[in-house]
Amino acid sequence: MTTINKEQVQLLEDTYGLKDKVVVVTGSSKGIGATIAKEFAKKGAKVVVNYNASSSAAENVVDEITQLGGTAIACKANVSNIEEAKSLIEQTVNEFGRIDILINNAGITRDRTFRKLSEAEWNEVINVNLNSVYHTTSAAINTMLEQKFGRIINISSIVGQAGAFGQTNYSAAKAGMIGFTKSLALETAKNGITVNAICPGYILTEMTAEIPENVMESIVSRIPMRRLGTTTEIAEACIFLANSEYITGQCINVNGGAYM
Ligand code: NAP
Repeated sequence: MTTINKEQVQLLEDTYGLKDKVVVVTGSSKGIGATIAKEFAKKGAKVVVNYNASSSAAENVVDEITQLGGTAIACKANVSNIEEAKSLIEQTVNEFGRIDILINNAGITRDRTFRKLSEAEWNEVINVNLNSVYHTTSAAINTMLEQKFGRIINISSIVGQAGAFGQTNYSAAKAGMIGFTKSLALETAKNGITVNAICPGYILTEMTAEIPENVMESIVSRIPMRRLGTTTEIAEACIFLANSEYITGQCINVNGGAYM
């Protein structure tokens, strides 16, 4: 990612309506979440960098943000655990007085064909990718309702729309996020809260680094744009949704044309 100086940060703050908005990004120690955290901070938002295991990576994200004059704290919480997810939101409100934007990004894969998939692998993926969304959102929703303002952005996946070989657990969780998004959008639309999903295609991160090279070549050959997406392209979609008042219940595809 290109480095920018403090004057450029000031310009971004003035351009976007995110100055002093409080953002929680689950799973932002690495990958897509880390880029989302940094891009929101560059536009003046106060960011909570959530992680479960990678504390030094999360501290690095916070350091990068503060060195640019931004505001961020790191907060450890396993969002698949309801008490820890509640505590993440409580710590956010205690520190910054509100929560404006919740980005449910934490996710894992445990790929296996269905006949070999264990109950533990099923449950782990559903807990981290889908139950976490219930945990954080239920903890944040009352504050957003009182504020009469909120943006909830769920990072789903193309796999939740199209399915993928060896990913019954992951595609069920990601499709579940889309249904959750639409239903909650209906319930909260009159209260100044928008709820949307982003469905990334294949994005270059540690998650996709695990895909064998020959499988990756075949994936890229089926993407009309013939390349993986970048984490910045997902962050840009989040910023667009955070700034939109009249878009709710939608699923924004950022996938190089791989699913239409
Ligand atoms: P990644 O590089 O593996 O990063 C995952 C992040 O989630 C890490 O910061 C990790 O932090 C955090 N995390 C994992 N389990 C957690 C838990 N229980 N509680 C809190 N944080 C947890 O993954 P990524 O590729 O950036 O993916 C981010 C999101 O985008 C995921 O939801 C993924 O399903 C979705 N997505 C990715 C792609 C892709 O091609 N990469 C495509 C479509 C959708 P710790 O290491 O600290 O646990």
